[in-house]
Amino acid sequence: MPTILFDQIVFGPIHSRRLGVSLGVNLLPVDGKLCSFDCIYCECGLNKEGRTRTKLPTREAVREALEQKLSAMREEGVRPDVITFAGNGEPTMHPQFGQIIEDTIEVRNRICPKAKIAVLSNSTMLHKQEVFDALNKVDDNILKLDSVLDKRIQQLNAPNSPSFTFEYLLEQLKRFKGNLIIQTMFLKGEVDGEKTDNTTEEEISGWIEALKVISPKQVMIYTIDRETPVHSLQKVNKEELERIADRARKEGFEVTVSA
Ligand code: SF4
Repeated sequence: MPTILFDQIVFGPIHSRRLGVSLGVNLLPVDGKLCSFDCIYCECGLNKEGRTRTKLPTREAVREALEQKLSAMREEGVRPDVITFAGNGEPTMHPQFGQIIEDTIEVRNRICPKAKIAVLSNSTMLHKQEVFDALNKVDDNILKLDSVLDKRIQQLNAPNSPSFTFEYLLEQLKRFKGNLIIQTMFLKGEVDGEKTDNTTEEEISGWIEALKVISPKQVMIYTIDRETPVHSLQKVNKEELERIADRARKEGFEVTVSA
């Protein structure tokens, strides 16, 4: 399948379905994928397909690349709405993630103070205090919650660590005391001959109960946008996503839908 890998530290700006004009920052290798999940829908491909021996970029290289790109954009009169940490895997796995966020806040404040800083994270590294503290400092701390059922988390996200469970995830997400955005990918289909569907009543009612406990400032729900490494997956249609969103809105949550 065609995978999408970012071959630079700073990429874009691109128009993001969820975030607007987004300048991307990739803290992972530029020629492969590095992630603590192995999601069946990952646009970077499955972990076994994306092996790399390339080192992660240094803190200094990230700062320099960001500074250069934002300065060039300022000269052209282009301003990003958001500087987004995403890229070829899980950004919080970078050992200098906390310092890189400090640098990014300083560079942003100096060159484009109106841009937000967003991190798209899979929530696996929240037990690391440095990661938790850094995520608390960014404008949009966007954390993944695809299911409240352990068997579904295993099926959809395939976490590397056996200790990653819904119970762990909920405890970590609660620690932000509402300073977070929840992102949930809804999909259906089949994987390894087994049905998968995280839009069932059991899933949605559990997901809403989890939102009540987590109390996020926003919820982003979305579905498959491009070809996935596991081919037997299907999009959830916009009407169904809107029905799910409406149930969460009735509980007082701000929900955006990208279909
Ligand atoms: S968390 Fe993101 S980068 Fe990692 S496997 Fe899942 S979709 Fe891919």
